Amino acid sequence: MDKRQFKAESKKLMDMMINSIYTHKDIFLRELISNASDALDKRYYNAMANGEGGAGRDEYKIELTIDKENRTLTISDNGCGMTEDELENNLGTIAKSGSLDFKSDLQKDSDVEIIGQFGVGFYSAFMVSDKVSVLSKAQGSNKAYLWESEGVDGYTVTEAEKDTAGTVITLKIKDNTENENYDQYLDQYALKDIVGKYSDYIRYSIMLDMTTTALKEGTEDEYESVTENTQLNSMVPLWRKSKSEIKQEEYDEFYQSKFYDFQAPLKTIHSKTEGQISYDALLYIPARAPFDFYSKDYEKGLQLYCNGVLIMDKCPELLPDYFSFVKGLVDSADLSLNISRETLQHDHILKIIAKNIEKKIKNELAKLLKDDREAYEKFYGTFGVQLKYGIYSDYGAHKETLQDLVMFYSSSEKKLVTLQEYADRMKEEQKTIYYACGETTDKIDMLPQSDAVKSKGYEILYLTDDVDEFALQMLMQYKEKTFTNICAGNLDLDDESEKEAMQKENEETKDLRDFLKESIGDAVSEVRFTTKLQKHPVCLTSEGMLSLEMEKVLSAMPGANAAKATLVLEINKNHPIADKLKALYESDKDTAAKYAKILYAQGCLIAGKAVESPTELCDMICDLM
Ligand code: ADP
Repeated sequence: MDKRQFKAESKKLMDMMINSIYTHKDIFLRELISNASDALDKRYYNAMANGEGGAGRDEYKIELTIDKENRTLTISDNGCGMTEDELENNLGTIAKSGSLDFKSDLQKDSDVEIIGQFGVGFYSAFMVSDKVSVLSKAQGSNKAYLWESEGVDGYTVTEAEKDTAGTVITLKIKDNTENENYDQYLDQYALKDIVGKYSDYIRYSIMLDMTTTALKEGTEDEYESVTENTQLNSMVPLWRKSKSEIKQEEYDEFYQSKFYDFQAPLKTIHSKTEGQISYDALLYIPARAPFDFYSKDYEKGLQLYCNGVLIMDKCPELLPDYFSFVKGLVDSADLSLNISRETLQHDHILKIIAKNIEKKIKNELAKLLKDDREAYEKFYGTFGVQLKYGIYSDYGAHKETLQDLVMFYSSSEKKLVTLQEYADRMKEEQKTIYYACGETTDKIDMLPQSDAVKSKGYEILYLTDDVDEFALQMLMQYKEKTFTNICAGNLDLDDESEKEAMQKENEETKDLRDFLKESIGDAVSEVRFTTKLQKHPVCLTSEGMLSLEMEKVLSAMPGANAAKATLVLEINKNHPIADKLKALYESDKDTAAKYAKILYAQGCLIAGKAVESPTELCDMICDLM
């Protein structure tokens, strides 16, 4: 019989399983039971969808069998089963879940982390077994096949006999070693405990023949051993239980095993809604971003159950994009079982549930922000960008929902603050919310433009994410307060007499300013004198909607159009350089022109904009030196 080879990744994974030092080896049972439950779901769903009906749910079950003599543990189900191809593809190749990033992760992380992180499914059987056999017959097929493997060497698939559809997995349990007790997996009480711990909520009965000693009937002191087929799980799905019955550890355990996370969730939201539409929702906010969250492979969505029957694993309609990080499920008896991907989008009930869920998540986040700032900041550090994209997306349609959930770094508080907190602290005469953009808060802190705003005692929000300014522009106002970029032209800081003086100064120096502008070229639309810079000589200012930061973000996008910010070079009227320029304009125009170019280059450097010709700049500076 020819032995087939595992794919490279599977081989690595299996090797890891066999030699694993993972301390929670008993999760193998959870993984196999969960696969069996999925197979039963599929079969049940197919039967319902094809109108076969009839078969009651209680006919579908998972059975455990212990054979101590032969050291085998068997897990059988009468689910959908697998064809020969499916055995080959599903068990010969590593599970799709997370396989992409797997290869690289295998090298850098310890196996313990990987097992916890991905939930390694079927392969975990090799943590406790010398040999694994899978006998399966697919629903609707008349042939059965046997898949067998003793580990990394490979596996065989042969035709076999099996009466009914379903899968029987037989594990040849390893012998005890000095450090590991494998015998427990052949012990009925130990198995009962493991099922109780990890698989209690499985909605099909998990049966085991349990032998106990009981008083012989009609006697008072004679005992006999009685074997009873016993159900190990309570079958009540966690989300159906009342909240007061559930401990946080149970919520966490459920989350970790179902959504493959090795960390407990940051927040659990369990809501039961009764009324015109009734449903249970169990939602989780992960403590960290899923490994593929920022890749295009990430699919948002909640599991969708209809009266306890899984209809869809990831129903995207239930979550708006800006809450795509939420994991969990929704179970409603009011949905039609025949709902399909195509009809979902138009399903009225689903839409209402989705709206309610959005509201629920928003309120819970607002509550977290109010009650546990530290946890919220942790959440925001991980998923905040998502919320800001949410404000910007769909032409600002969601800004009401999201504006009180976003935070920005504050110049005065030196930490993240909400817009509400900023608004509450605004000075009486302050007309607008000031912000500044840059790569890091430290860099923004050194912008020359910030001095004038700070000297008035005004707070500045520091925007460091690409999306930030787009989000604020989409908001336009917060509680009737506009937003102003400190790098924009008019900061509204001066009183009327100061303004007039400046205007006069700029009128009187028009010839000089035009000359400077011509010397610099098209890069700026104007050169202007200003009093807003306190100790610094120059700054670049943008006019209009498009700021320099936005220009940078847009031009970095694929297929970027050449949207350019309109820039003005502002020169500090009170700086000695202003007088020097005036003098040179009269005496030495060539040098004045060089000065103009150098000052513009300085403005670029301060603003974090690339200097067009660094060589020319350096030559000019050397000439003057
Ligand atoms: P995952 O469950 O994450 O997909 P597994 O390695 O646990 O990964 O299983 C791989 C695949 O094998 C499953 O997706 C399923 O298609 C198939 N499978 C496993 N166990 C069974 C079973 N008892 N009945 C039918 N199919 C199964």
